[in-house]
Formats: sequence, C-alpha cells, structure tokens
Amino acid sequence: MQIFDTHTHDYFHTFDKDRDEMLKEDFSSGVMGKVQIGCDEETSLQALKLARTDEKMWATVGIHPCYVEENFEKREKIFNIFEKLLKENPKKIIGIGETGFDFYHKDSDEMREKQKTSFIQHIQFAVKYEKPLVIHTRNARKETLDFFADEISKYKNVKAVIHCFSEDAHFAKTVTEKYGFFLGIGGVATYPACKEIRNAIDETPIKFLITETDSPYLAPQSKRGKRNQSKNIKEVIELISEIKKIPLQECSEILVKNAKQFWGV
Ligand SMILES: [Zn+2]
Repeated sequence: MQIFDTHTHDYFHTFDKDRDEMLKEDFSSGVMGKVQIGCDEETSLQALKLARTDEKMWATVGIHPCYVEENFEKREKIFNIFEKLLKENPKKIIGIGETGFDFYHKDSDEMREKQKTSFIQHIQFAVKYEKPLVIHTRNARKETLDFFADEISKYKNVKAVIHCFSEDAHFAKTVTEKYGFFLGIGGVATYPACKEIRNAIDETPIKFLITETDSPYLAPQSKRGKRNQSKNIKEVIELISEIKKIPLQECSEILVKNAKQFWGV
C-alpha cells in the first residue's frame, strides 16, 4: 500500500531516542512521502533540518495559532528568517504554516485579533511564493468560514489544506467547492464518536482528500493514545476506502496522487 503523510512533526523530542528506526519502519511500510510541519521559528528550522536528510521528506515554515501570542512582536523578524530559508531551500520548503485559528486552549478578543493578523500574513507570504497553506482550525468553525469569505477572494490562487479535518459536511462542501481547498484526513476520522467527519468524507469528492498523521499525536482508533507515526495512516486509508467504496489499493494510489499534486512534488 502507498502512503503519503502530508502533516507530521517527526522532529519532536518524543522521537529523539529512535527516530532513525521509526523513519526506516515507515519507509519500508509503503510511506512514499512525509511533510514535516513547522509551528514557530525553532520548529520550522527543525522540520527543515530533518527534511533535508531524505529525498522523501519536505518541510513547511509557519507560526501555529497557539504560538502566535508569544511570537507576535517578533513576527516580522521571523518572517524574514522564513524568507531567507525559502530562498535557500526552494525545493525542500513546499508549504507555509501551520497557521489558522485555535480558540480551544485560550480565548480573548485580543488573541483572536492577533491570530487573524498572523493568518493574513501567512496567506500573503504563501501567495508571494506560490506555496500551499496548511490551515489549523479548532473551536473556530464559523470564524474560519467568515474569515475565508472576507479574505480569500482578495488573492488569486490561494492553495490550502484544512489539516486534521474535524468539521462537518457543510464546512467541507464550502471550502472544497468555493475555494478548492483540500481536507487533511487523519486518525480522528477513525474515532467512533466522530461520525460527522465520516459523513463529510462521504459527501466530499475524493479528489479533495489527502491523508496525514499530525504525528506524534492523534493515532488512529486501534492505536489511540499511543505515539503516532506515518505507517498508521493505513487505518485511515482503510476507512476512506470503505466509505468511498473504492478498492483499498486503488484508494491508496488516488490519495498519494492527490498529495503529490497538492504539494507539487
Ligand atoms: Zn500539526
């Protein structure tokens, strides 16, 4: 089976002891690509550093909404660093983010404004360098759709994925049909309580679906709570194959093709 992990954080410390074995295991289990996602200045550098060790790995640079507040004053400096990295590694850095809205952990009007400012900055940067955006949204379903309606039409050719898609069919329909965005489907879709996500998968054409782990987090149901890794995406592909009534092998090939097309690799 072919697997493409469009969103992982393999540079996290939880893999320090056995990262090489873990990567080897993934690559020998059908994993054909991994995108290491940056969450701030330091982790974007770590993502790039790891991505450079294998031709099947790439990286993104960005400031995760949960880290916007602490980086807000120095965001210009950070984006200058991102710009320099992009110019030096145009083939390895293939996307911008993760960015977006997260009102789950903390919430205030001021924080929302800052996340919005950062989100807009990421969009402009992605458009300038013609890279896809990685969008995180948590406890912000309506705010994200309202933001898209206000902001996305201002730019041409915004390419994006709603990472760790956990919304409903209405959200999926809006972002795929209106903006052509992709949905990143991960372990959460396999959790028994998450019927809404499976319903959205059912209603969305498969050409908009790509797979991810958000590793080390969000292992699929059979490994729930444990450290996640790209090979576990098999369980997610099995789910999509079942919902879409597409044979497993064919389904995995379509999902890999979608991922490659999305990232331009
Ligand atoms: Zn992530």
